Amino acid sequence: MPTINSVLGPLDTANLGFTLMHEHLLVTSAGIPQNYPELLRAGFMDRLPNFMDRIVTALTEAKAEGIDTIVDTTTLNLGRDVTILAEASRLTGVNIIACSGWYVDMPHYLARVSADQFAQVFIREIQEGIASTAIKAGILKEASDTEGVTAGGATILRAVARAHRQTNVPIMLHSYSPGQVGRQQLAILKEEGVDLNRVKVDHSNDTTDVEYLTWLLEQGCYLGMDRYPGLNTSPRARTRTMKTLIDAGYAHRLLPSHDWPVVFVTEEVPRERRNPFLYIKKVVFAQLREMGVPEATLNSLCVDNPRNFFEGA
Ligand SMILES: [Zn+2]
Repeated sequence: MPTINSVLGPLDTANLGFTLMHEHLLVTSAGIPQNYPELLRAGFMDRLPNFMDRIVTALTEAKAEGIDTIVDTTTLNLGRDVTILAEASRLTGVNIIACSGWYVDMPHYLARVSADQFAQVFIREIQEGIASTAIKAGILKEASDTEGVTAGGATILRAVARAHRQTNVPIMLHSYSPGQVGRQQLAILKEEGVDLNRVKVDHSNDTTDVEYLTWLLEQGCYLGMDRYPGLNTSPRARTRTMKTLIDAGYAHRLLPSHDWPVVFVTEEVPRERRNPFLYIKKVVFAQLREMGVPEATLNSLCVDNPRNFFEGA
C-alpha cells in the first residue's frame, strides 16, 4: 500500500480517513518564540500560558467527531514547529501531515538562493527530516498573494516543482483567487513539467468566479475550498460556490478545509473559534445537505479526495 510521511512516521494512505487538507495548529513567525518571547507574553502568554492544552483539546474534540487526519500547512517562516505537531499527534491519535516550502515573503538575504538550492532543502525535509528531527514533510507549499507571483515566488514555485518531481510529494498553492493568481502559478509549474493532477490550489473559494475556478479544474488540479467560516467572502457564498462546482461534475476535485489556526501566537482567538476543525462537518455539510448534495458525496470530499490527491490516483 502507498504510504506518505506523517509526523509520526509512514502512514498508509488507506488510513488517512476523514482528512482536513489545510489547517494550522500554531501560527507565529520563524524564531519569534525562541528569541522574543516577551512579544508573545505581552499579548498572549499571560492569558494563555499553555497553548499545547488548547491544541490537544481541539484535536481531541475533532477526533471524537470523526476527523482522522489534519494537514498542517505551516511553513518554516510561519513558525512551524514539528515537535509540537508530533506531540499533538501522539497525545490525540489524530494523524498530522507536516509541510515543507515557503510562505509569501522572501527575505532580502535569501533573494539570491536558487530554485535548485531551495529544492535541495525541501527534499531533505521530505527524505531525511525537518530541523534536527527525523520528522518528515508530506506536502510542499508555495504561496503567492495579491501581488501575483513575485521573483521570490517564482523561485519557490520552481523549487517545489523540482522537489515534487524528485520525491512524488504533492504540491499545495496558497493563491489569491480574486486576482486569478493561480493562472500564473500553474503556468510556472507546467514549465517545470509538473503533472497538475498532483497540485491543489487553495483559498479557491475566496472568489465566487466559477468560470475562473472551472478553468483551474480543467487544467487538472484540485481546489482547496477553505477559509471557513472565512474573512471577506461569507461562509454561505463559499458553500454555494462548492455546490455549483459539485453540480458541474467536479466533486472529485474539491478539498474542503478551514485554514483557521488553533493558536495565533500574537493574538487571542475568539472563544467560538477555538475549535476550528468542526465547522465543515457541522455547518458546511449541513448546508450542502440542505442544497441536495448526497451523503456519499459529502463523505468522499474529505475521505476519497484527500487519499486520491496523495496517491496521485
Ligand atoms: Zn493556511
